[in-house]
Amino acid sequence: MTKTNVLIVEDEIIVAKNIEAMLKVLDYDVAGICISSEQAIKVVAEKKPDLILMDIVLGGDIDGIQVAAKILENVTVPIIFVTSYSDDDTLKRAKETAPYGYIIKPFQEKELLAGIEIALERYNLEQKIRENEQLLQTTLRSISDGIITTDKKGHIFYINNIGEKIIARSYQDIKGKSLNSVFKLIYDDTNKELFKFIENPSRVKKLTKIPPSTIIPKIDSTKIIDGSISPILETTGKTRGFVLAFRDITAAQKALKVQNALYNISNSVNTVKNIQDLFQSIQKHLGEIIDTKNFYVALYDKKTDTISLPYIIDKEDKFTSFPAGKTLTGYVIKHKKPILVDEKNYREMSAKGLIEIIGSPSKVWMGVPLKVEGEVIGVVAVQSYEDENLYTKDDLEILQFVSGQLAIAISHKRAEDAQRIERAYFEQLFENSPESIVLVNNESRILRLNEEFTKTFGYTIEEARNKNIDELLTRGEYGKEAKGVTSKIAEGETVALETIRWHKNGTPVDVSILGTPIIFEGGQLAVYGIYRNISDRKIVENELKEANIKLELLARTDPLTQLSNRRDALEKIEYEEKRYERSEKPFAIIICDIDDFKSVNDRFGHDAGDEVLKTLANIMRMIVRKQDIVARWGGEEFLLMLPQTDIEGGLVLAEKIRKKVRSTEFNFNGMKIHISLTMGLSIYKENKTIDETISQADRALYMGKKLGKDCVKSETDLIK
Ligand code: GH3
Ligand code: MG
Ligand code: MG
Repeated sequence: MTKTNVLIVEDEIIVAKNIEAMLKVLDYDVAGICISSEQAIKVVAEKKPDLILMDIVLGGDIDGIQVAAKILENVTVPIIFVTSYSDDDTLKRAKETAPYGYIIKPFQEKELLAGIEIALERYNLEQKIRENEQLLQTTLRSISDGIITTDKKGHIFYINNIGEKIIARSYQDIKGKSLNSVFKLIYDDTNKELFKFIENPSRVKKLTKIPPSTIIPKIDSTKIIDGSISPILETTGKTRGFVLAFRDITAAQKALKVQNALYNISNSVNTVKNIQDLFQSIQKHLGEIIDTKNFYVALYDKKTDTISLPYIIDKEDKFTSFPAGKTLTGYVIKHKKPILVDEKNYREMSAKGLIEIIGSPSKVWMGVPLKVEGEVIGVVAVQSYEDENLYTKDDLEILQFVSGQLAIAISHKRAEDAQRIERAYFEQLFENSPESIVLVNNESRILRLNEEFTKTFGYTIEEARNKNIDELLTRGEYGKEAKGVTSKIAEGETVALETIRWHKNGTPVDVSILGTPIIFEGGQLAVYGIYRNISDRKIVENELKEANIKLELLARTDPLTQLSNRRDALEKIEYEEKRYERSEKPFAIIICDIDDFKSVNDRFGHDAGDEVLKTLANIMRMIVRKQDIVARWGGEEFLLMLPQTDIEGGLVLAEKIRKKVRSTEFNFNGMKIHISLTMGLSIYKENKTIDETISQADRALYMGKKLGKDCVKSETDLIK
C-alpha cells in the first residue's frame, strides 16, 4: 500500500517543517511544502496530493480559504484547515469550502493523525457516494425506461430523458411538482389501487407493478405505459421517496390490440356460420381498434350499377341500396383502390366531378374494395360525421386486411353454396331418379342405393350395404359377365350393356346397366352404377316381334286354307332356285286347278266351295313330303313345289293327289260333293327360269283341261 501523500501549505517555514516532521513520524509521505498560494495551486496540479493541510493565514493577497476554493474548482481533494484563529467569520467562510476538518494550532501528533485519518475516511466515503451517484446517473440516463424519482410526498426531483419524452414534459417543467399533477393515470376498476398510489404515493410500501393499458393523458396525445412504482426505503424502514419506472407501450399495445382484433376477425371467418354474423363480428372486433360506429359492407351489381348494403350500421343513413353512380363507394369499386377521404378531399373530388354527394356528408370516409377471386364485388367502409381525424393510413391498411378476410369468407361461402347446391342436386338426382342407382366402392361393395334400386331389386340399403353388388344381383354365368364389367370399369372405362339381373325374390329382371368409374385425383374411388329396368320394354319388344312374325305369317298365308299364298310360294321357289345353284338338285312345280269349280259353287253354295277348298288343302298337305310346299296359287288353283324331284317323282306325287281327291267325298252340311283336279308339271333345272318353269306347268295344266280334265300333264307332254 502506498503511503498517503500530504501537501503542506504554510507560509511559516518553521511551522511547516515541524508539521513535516510530525507527518513523517506518523508514516505519511509529504508531497511538498508550499509557502504561497500561487505555489500551492501549482503543486496541487503537479503532485496530486491525497490531502492538503492548509494554513488559513497565508502571506500574500489571498488567504488559505480562497486558495482552497480555487483548488477545489479543478480537483476534489480533502483539505484540512490548520489555523490558530477560530473566529466565527473565518469559520463560516471556511465552511463554505466544505473542508474535511480543522486543526487548531498548536497541535499534537495525535490530533494531526486523528484529523488526517477522519478527513481521509470521509473523503473516501464521499468519493464512493459520488461514484455511486455517477453510476446511478449514468444508469438512469442510459436506461430505456422512463424514470422519475420523488421525495416521500411524491414531489418530483428527477426524471430521465426517456421519461421526459414519454410524458412530453421537461425536467425544468415538472421539477418539484407532485407526481399526480403531471402524471395522471386513467385506470379502470382493476387499477383503482394503483391510481391511489399515484394520488398518494405514501401508500406504496413495496414495488408495485403498473399494469399495461394504464394511460397518461397528455395535452395532445395519450400514452399507454406499464412499469412499476417502488418506495426508496431508508435503513430504518422509513420511506424517503419513490422511483417510478415506466415504459411507453402505446405502439406495442396498439399493435397487440390490432393483432388481437385481426386474429379475432380471421377466426370469425372460420367459425361464424353465416355472412350476416360475420359482418357483425367484424364490426365488433374491428371496433376494438378503429371506430366502427358507422360501418357498412356494400355489394355491387354491375348490370344495374347498383350498390346494395347487406350490412350497415350508421348513425345518419339507413340505405339498403342506391345507384353506384358517383358515390364514394362507387368510386372505390370502379378504381379498385382503397381511399381515405376527409372533408377537404371530398370537396376537391366533387369539384372535379369525380363524385357526387349522396346521403349525409361525412367528415372522414374510408373505404376499401372487396375483392373476391380477383374481381371487385363491393366495398367495406367506415366513416365519421364528427371527427375528421378519426382514421389514419394505418387504419386503411387494417380495413384492407378486414376486407381480405371478408373476401375469403365470401369466396368460401360461394364455394360452399355451390357445393351445397351440387350436393342437393346430386341428392335429388340420386334419390328421385327413375333409374336404379347404386354407388359401390372400388371393391364393388355397396355404399349407397336409391329408392328405385330397392323397387327394382327388392333390397333396402340396410340389406345391401357392404355386400358385393355382383354377387347380390347375378345368378349363374351372369356372375362372370358382371366381373368382366367390373374389371373394365376398374380400368377407367364406362360400360353400358343390356343383361339380366335378379330381384331379391328370385325373379330375373331385364336391365340396361351403365357403369361409370368415379375417379378422384387419379385414383378410382368408386363406381356409379345405373340400372334401368327394361323388362317392360323387353315384353313390348317380344310382343312386337311376335306381332311382326304374325303379320309376316299373315302376309304369307292364305286366310282360307292356311296355305302359303302366292307371294310366299314365289319366295320359297326363289329360295329353292338359289339352293339349286349350290346343289344342282332340280325341283318340280305342279299347278293344280279344280275342275268345274264354278258349278260346285253354283250347286252347293259359295260356303260349300270354301269348305271344299279348305279340305282339299289339308289333303294335299297330308300327301306331300315335309320339305314340299303347298300354296294357294289363285282362286281354285294350287301350286306344289317339290324340292329334289324329277319328272317321274313329280308325276307319282301328282297322281297320288289326283287319285286321292278323285276318291274323296267332300261333306258340307250333309251335302256330298265330289271334285277332280287337273295338274300341270314342270321341272326346274339348268337353262330355265322360274317363270319359264311355271309357265310350262301352266301350259301342261291347260293341256290337261283341254284333253278332258282330271289328269296330270307334264312339260314332256307339251313337246309331243
Ligand atoms: P274349269 O274346269 O275350266 O277349271 O272350270 P271352272 O269352273 O273351275 O273354271 P272357272 O275359271 O270358270 O271358274 C272358277 C271358279 O272358281 C269361279 C269361282 O266361283 C270359283 N272360285 C274361285 N275362288 C273361289 C273361292 O275362294 N271360293 C269359292 N267358293 N269359289 C271360288
Ligand atoms: Mg281356274
Ligand atoms: Mg277350275
